[in-house]
Amino acid sequence: MQKKATDIIKKWQRKLYLNDWDVSIEFINKKDNKFKSKTDVAYMQYDTCRKEADISVVLDAIKDDKKKNTLEKAILHELFHLFYADFKTIIDEVVTIYSKDTKKDKEFVENLLENKFEEVINSMTRVLVEDKNEV
Ligand SMILES: [Zn+2]
Repeated sequence: MQKKATDIIKKWQRKLYLNDWDVSIEFINKKDNKFKSKTDVAYMQYDTCRKEADISVVLDAIKDDKKKNTLEKAILHELFHLFYADFKTIIDEVVTIYSKDTKKDKEFVENLLENKFEEVINSMTRVLVEDKNEV
């Protein structure tokens, strides 16, 4: 699994021009899942200055992976976060500017932009990984 994951990371790092990033991956059990959403397959922490990223994948979520390519989708999804790291910085700035008034506004704007950002990444991931399967 580790070898397969490393190959997938290398493949998409190359395609997305993210070769200057040091990306590591670990597999965790469902019970050790500390993610915000318990349904998430993967989670990533990254440092844009050091260009280091650590991806954690829930092992249970990728058990029947043959047809669905869940692991590749999860990795590509997280790598898109690195690809759009600048865009995330812009989102954070916009949230700060548009939400000076109340905490409620901040949460509203933040959720709106973050959810849209996740949708965009999910669509691109779906298109790219499924295209590959259809060939
Ligand atoms: Zn995401």
